[in-house]
Amino acid sequence: MSELISQLESALDASSLLLGDAISDKYYADWSGAEPCPPGALLKPRTTGELSTIMALCHQYNQSVVVQGGLTGLAGGATPKLGEFAISLERMSGVTEVDITGMTLTAEAGTPLQLIQEAAEKHDLFLPLDLGARGSCMIGGNIATNAGGTEVLRYGMTRAMVMGLEVVLADGTVISSMNKLIKNNSGYDLKHLFIGSEGTLGIVTRVVLQLQPKSLGSHTALCALNSYESVTKLLITLKRSLGSGLTGFELMWDNYYDKVMEVIPDLTSPFAESHSYYLLVEYKDNDLVSGAERFESALFEQLESGLLTDALIAQSNQDAATFWQIRDGIGELFQVLGPVSNQDISLPIVEIGGFAVDMDRRLKEKYENINVLLWGHIGDNNLHVCAYTGLVEDKVRINRDIMLMIGEYGGAITAEHGVGVLKREFLSLSRSDSEIALMRTIKLAMDPKNILNPGRVI
Ligand SMILES: Cc1cc2nc3c(=O)[nH]c(=O)nc-3n(C[C@H](O)[C@H](O)[C@H](O)COP(=O)(O)OP(=O)(O)OC[C@H]3O[C@@H](n4cnc5c(N)ncnc54)[C@H](O)[C@@H]3O)c2cc1C
Repeated sequence: MSELISQLESALDASSLLLGDAISDKYYADWSGAEPCPPGALLKPRTTGELSTIMALCHQYNQSVVVQGGLTGLAGGATPKLGEFAISLERMSGVTEVDITGMTLTAEAGTPLQLIQEAAEKHDLFLPLDLGARGSCMIGGNIATNAGGTEVLRYGMTRAMVMGLEVVLADGTVISSMNKLIKNNSGYDLKHLFIGSEGTLGIVTRVVLQLQPKSLGSHTALCALNSYESVTKLLITLKRSLGSGLTGFELMWDNYYDKVMEVIPDLTSPFAESHSYYLLVEYKDNDLVSGAERFESALFEQLESGLLTDALIAQSNQDAATFWQIRDGIGELFQVLGPVSNQDISLPIVEIGGFAVDMDRRLKEKYENINVLLWGHIGDNNLHVCAYTGLVEDKVRINRDIMLMIGEYGGAITAEHGVGVLKREFLSLSRSDSEIALMRTIKLAMDPKNILNPGRVI
């Protein structure tokens, strides 16, 4: 047994260190489809102090580690590489405080997102971060990936709701920056170094989040449009008429919509005719009397102006849930489509329509029998692409083709999911040499031995 393992054994109790067959295969990979690999050891600290001890020892012995939250990441960042020790945050879980005056919530990094949402809800408050993986992903993972989700249009990405952090650095140093102040310009705002850095600069252990008052009314509509230009015009119009109450603007191209209808047995299209684009619009406010009227009249005006071809306003929570089921149908599609290139990219909103047409044409010229499904959080300039031929060998080639096209258009190779290992080779398509050089300088300064999530991002 190595000296490092014996030192860890002396420092930790038996439940915090697992080796060999005692490590469940759940820790071998995240959801990204990256090649599973058993970690050399699995460490499950219960406190920041224990984690600090672990990192100080790993630093002393040059042992590289991979940080694991809920393992729902789609960029392969939490999948171990040969010889790495995995550090799971799952035992550092719990909401420790809800401050109803300052509307903040303090939690440990291993707390599942859904638990945090529920804790806020008990006080009629709301964390404006929601994603399909809410039951499994952890707040530390959300912060490490600067997760997006379905409320970004109104509230921004995870970064916008983090007020304070506690972090353990590669050498075990604890940085406590549990700020609760909205205004605090006392020097560098260090939390931003860690948000979105995918575990390469430090391990998030505790967080302070800004909550929001819960909206009293929520209104949802499923709309049909016949051109991408109408979509962008509608976005501007609704932003003006509905203001900050516009929380959802989720576009589905007909290829995506039709596939969802074909595959999910309990869904049928609520429209009598087919359309080129389908759009889920959501509006939230606190005026129970006039909110519904304001929403309806904003949509009615656009039906009259001809921007909208059709619009169905949810008459019940069940209707709204059905509209969201269509939008979230991709989860069920993934289970039946076989090997797919699943991309999450960003472009200026005005360019997405043209990019989609160009990409579809170029992929169809190159691959026989390719299917390209498109949908996305268009209000946040985020396009999702699912392209597949049924052949596993095409998946990597299609990934590359789409990455190169996004590079040509000057877009972002990842909007939400992060770079991890799967997009690392494409980073220079979205970032300049000088930006990447500065990233390397920061990494070297904070983790000179390159033991923390090595080979991820840069
Ligand atoms: C069904 C489904 C829907 C999804 N929807 C969305 C969506 O709408 N928007 C979106 O942005 N993402 C989405 N994702 C991706 C994923 O859920 C997010 O990236 C999530 O934030 C990852 O959290 P996690 O706890 O699972 O992290 P993990 O997968 O465990 O880790 C992700 C990365 O963060 C690092 N990390 C984890 N915890 C910490 C920590 N405490 N400190 C430092 N580094 C850490 C890991 O090393 C890894 O690099 C979805 C995934 C699935 C499966």
